[in-house]
Amino acid sequence: MKLSKIASAIVESPTLVLNEEARLLRERGEPVIHLGIGEPKNKTPIAAILASAAKLTSGEIKYTPADGTLSLKKAIIRYTEENYDRLVAPENVIVTNGAKQSLFNIFFSILNPQDEVVILAPYWVSYPEIVKMCMGRPVIVTPEDGTFTPRFEDIERAVTGYTRAIIANSPNNPSGTVYPPELIEKLVDFCERKGIYLVCDDIYHKLVFDRKEAAPAWRFTKRDIEDSHVIVVNGVAKVYGMTGFRVGWVVAPRDLVRVMTNVTAQTTSGVSPVSQAAAEGALNGLQNVVEALRLQIENNRAVLLQEMKTFNGARLVVPDGTFYALPDLRAYSTNSVELSKFLLKKALVVTVPGKEFGMEGHIRLSIAGSVKDVTEGVARIKWALDPTSPNEIYLGDKKMVRDWL
Ligand code: PMP
Repeated sequence: MKLSKIASAIVESPTLVLNEEARLLRERGEPVIHLGIGEPKNKTPIAAILASAAKLTSGEIKYTPADGTLSLKKAIIRYTEENYDRLVAPENVIVTNGAKQSLFNIFFSILNPQDEVVILAPYWVSYPEIVKMCMGRPVIVTPEDGTFTPRFEDIERAVTGYTRAIIANSPNNPSGTVYPPELIEKLVDFCERKGIYLVCDDIYHKLVFDRKEAAPAWRFTKRDIEDSHVIVVNGVAKVYGMTGFRVGWVVAPRDLVRVMTNVTAQTTSGVSPVSQAAAEGALNGLQNVVEALRLQIENNRAVLLQEMKTFNGARLVVPDGTFYALPDLRAYSTNSVELSKFLLKKALVVTVPGKEFGMEGHIRLSIAGSVKDVTEGVARIKWALDPTSPNEIYLGDKKMVRDWL
């Protein structure tokens, strides 16, 4: 069969492969613990449920404008003013089918073939694939060993005449690292001097711990949004735990929003009005749901840190935000794909190999689930890898003895 070279080169999502294996194991009744999935377990905020239910019962479920309903845009404008201290116009906002489509449409709209995009490792798995689908070239900048914060000088060095954008994702998936404000400031200044875009994937921006803050890029530019090179991506998936509604958005100069609107109109059309109503409900509703989620995850992080203390060979950069951690397990294996497979087979724990995020020798753990998932999940990983841990464990009601170390 003849297939497109570009499409065929897109890698299969490793997470989906592991999830499928985990599902089969679960179906066989195995007590699998999922530390792989990137979504919180909370229920949809009630304000979102009521708003979308009202939309649904109106029976008026028709096409929406390709750039989003005006009422959701107004809610996004308010959110932007409240959280970023920026007053933008409806023409600066486009609503998309999740932040994923935001990112795809941004790169589809700004890249010419062979243009380069600087991606900071560890990075979210989809960035390089999206850039490639848009005929661009991902250029990866890796931080020094032992940190997940890239050095500004290395980023500067990676930028060439072909560079069109740098992507910054802080708080970061998969490491949980929040970049220092000085780095964001330097990036904004650098991008504006060079005339390249700084694409800020802010999807986790409120899930930050220890009273820290993810410094928003707009803080460091006095430019009007139309002249600014900052593009902000956001959505309801993580902060409100509304992954299934598929609502994300972009705030950017209006010329870019106009092109993105045409791209959306000719491909997917506007997001379902039921989902847009839900997002509007979440943004306009009580915001204590976000704080409740943040506190739950901060508590899970405390549990994780406690459990990791006795994990001798693992090195962990303490996550500042998100619901991920990226321990370095090179003391046990430098092949994270094999390691994740091994952990699923022996310990029935789902993890995601760091290789997929540009961090070989690490694995990503999601701590979005229950305290029990975190405690038992880490205990199982310790049992499977660390010879100093007790060599007997219960997986569900089955007593297992480690016989491979
Ligand atoms: N950016 C990052 C960093 C993410 O982790 C994710 C989801 N895993 C997305 C974007 C996509 O979010 P959405 O579900 O809104 O498409």
